[in-house]
Amino acid sequence: MKDLLKGIIDKNIEVTEKGKVADYIPALAKANPRDLGACIIDMDGNIYTAGEYRKRFTIQSISKTIALMLAIMDNGEEEVFKKVGMEPTGDAFNSIYKLEVEEIAKPLNPMINAGAIAVTSLIKGRDSKEKIDRLLSLFRKISCNDNIVINEEVYLSEKETGNRNRAMGYLLKDMGIVDGNVEEALDVYFKQCSIEMDCIDIANMGLFLANDGTIPKTGEVVVDEHISRIIKTYMVTCGMYNSSGEFAIKVGIPAKSGVGGGILASVPHRMGIGIYGPALDKRGNSVAGLRVLQSLSKQLDLSIF
Ligand code: GLU
Repeated sequence: MKDLLKGIIDKNIEVTEKGKVADYIPALAKANPRDLGACIIDMDGNIYTAGEYRKRFTIQSISKTIALMLAIMDNGEEEVFKKVGMEPTGDAFNSIYKLEVEEIAKPLNPMINAGAIAVTSLIKGRDSKEKIDRLLSLFRKISCNDNIVINEEVYLSEKETGNRNRAMGYLLKDMGIVDGNVEEALDVYFKQCSIEMDCIDIANMGLFLANDGTIPKTGEVVVDEHISRIIKTYMVTCGMYNSSGEFAIKVGIPAKSGVGGGILASVPHRMGIGIYGPALDKRGNSVAGLRVLQSLSKQLDLSIF
């Protein structure tokens, strides 16, 4: 397995040349576009790594999966789905216009920015500090790493330049989707996006989801299977931006990517996979990361379909 993974990473390093690192959040532009790394952790706890798997990167949109999990744990499904829908959009992750034209008058799903901001506003806590602390503790638990922290530079960079997200936050407040303080919800959102991890941490999160919400190493049940299934289903239908349909056909694994170049993938009852490759395609997915997952899926027969 180690050789297989190394072979796939080595073969796809040149694919990184086809993408560009995100620069709309200025601090992200510092990433090395040629980096590519991966980690696989199987149900027996075997860890396989290759390439730049130790590089830390901000998880960005990958955080939307676990923020949704915490919001459902805090409020129950019914409350959460009053504020956010269950349908893919086919639009860019930061698109705003369907908030106005859709009759249902709520963000279409929790994996686009509008839906994620709505979901994050539902996380319980006295103030934004308590909310992000609760979320961070959950990330530490399921990635089996107590040292996970927020990258301050990326957080401040996005807070300063996140005008589109800020606009969405205020529109959602006007629509009655965000109840509390908008700046507080945005602050938690910017911080969750700036949580820093490496491929091993991401693979551990994928393994936790693959194991239906129980941490395999400790046997601790963090969420019930049903909630874990909701998260994985959103990963299939909306996890890879507006390439989710193509990804389902070509790869067939629940996955969520982020503009920091990470991809979280979870193969039910088999393995968790963490990928890092900050050169992105036009839709925001790691261009080489997609190819790595495609090869892995083919060679190990990982598609769930
Ligand atoms: N923090 C990023 C934003 O809101 C997350 C985007 C992403 O990774 O898709 O623009």
